[in-house]
Amino acid sequence: MSSKNVNSRSGLVRTGNRDFMKEINLSIILNLIRSRGPLSRTDIAHSSGLSQGAVSGLTGELLASDFIRELGGGQSKGGRSPVLLVINPHVGFVVGIKLTDQAIVAAITDMEATIVHRTSKRVDGLQDPQIAIEAIIQTIETSLAESAIPRSKVIGVGIGLAGMIDSQESICTYSPILGWRQVQLAQPIEQRLQLPVYIENDVNALTIAENWFGAGRGRSHFLVATIGRGIGMGVVSNGLLDRGATGGAGEFGHITLQPSGPRCGCGKAGCLEALAGDPAVVRMAYEAVEAGKQTSLRQAMQSTSQLTLEHVALAAEQGDQVAQEILSEAGRWLGLGLSYLVNLFNPGLIVLSGEGTRTGDARIEAASQMMKQHIFDGLDNDLELVIKPMDDESWARGAACVVLSELFKHPINRATRTGLLGVV
Ligand SMILES: [Zn+2]
Repeated sequence: MSSKNVNSRSGLVRTGNRDFMKEINLSIILNLIRSRGPLSRTDIAHSSGLSQGAVSGLTGELLASDFIRELGGGQSKGGRSPVLLVINPHVGFVVGIKLTDQAIVAAITDMEATIVHRTSKRVDGLQDPQIAIEAIIQTIETSLAESAIPRSKVIGVGIGLAGMIDSQESICTYSPILGWRQVQLAQPIEQRLQLPVYIENDVNALTIAENWFGAGRGRSHFLVATIGRGIGMGVVSNGLLDRGATGGAGEFGHITLQPSGPRCGCGKAGCLEALAGDPAVVRMAYEAVEAGKQTSLRQAMQSTSQLTLEHVALAAEQGDQVAQEILSEAGRWLGLGLSYLVNLFNPGLIVLSGEGTRTGDARIEAASQMMKQHIFDGLDNDLELVIKPMDDESWARGAACVVLSELFKHPINRATRTGLLGVV
């Protein structure tokens, strides 16, 4: 939280009633400790504009509720070292679920988004929402039992999935990968588990994770782009996730770059995803073998009767020039797409993530070079590109962060809902 936001919130306090003032001030203090901690009470008073007395009283309540804890003395030039305050990471836990068309991955995290338990389960028939709901409930029950975390300590459940999500109404409006339209996912799970449930587009969930706990912490304008089976994007503008008017912002993978190009999973032709996603890499590998090119991919295909992304990545790593060129070609299309994003959004940071970042340097380097070539002059000044390889677990952690961000956004509302902050 920037000091500007804090001050404007402090301004709001003067017009509110007493409880509302307290709620806002607790929120300010919690968020200061979360984003900049460890902090002393003096630091908090200085950054928030609240009086020392108010900070002392409010932090006392947060300590009594176990939400924060005291660390040993901080740095001090002479005299007594100030006591520093940090969030108590184990005051509560959240469950994150990544739902794909074939599996459910669950991660339980603490308040600092550190994973304390993980599990994944292959499930058939997830295209049927009833099967998906049952499987998610069972996975959560199993995870909680295995981790021995008491239900009373669980703040909520976050579910991330590909597609358009109305996060206000907790409805999946459209998910091509699951074949879903207008699926009410959160409510039945919430009723059965008696826990708050939030659903979010999976890339948006990852973006929230980066915004609150990752490379985007403290950044006002940044993008998260993911490459894998699909290509997605999350946008943070003025410090907030931008979902667009109907929850569909960030369909980066489906911008058309080659109108007469290969068919995309969305039904259109020449989308970025169809040119640069992992299936596109595999398609190009088959095409290279069929065209009779000199490549070790031919032997890989003969010995396993199919080609996979891993075959291409391994061949490229071992110096196979055809495999390297395939990954570079996919990377160049991605870089072209990224240059559009830079020109449109002027981000200070792009976090490039997803399973596709694990295919070696050729793809990433080609993407980075192509992006730089096509950016409008001046927009690449101070532009940072961070590569963050990830796996299914990271997606589940992203979904968990959706719950944490809700909690910190409205700490008292959430605490009342969960009973964690009974003292306030
Ligand atoms: Zn498409």
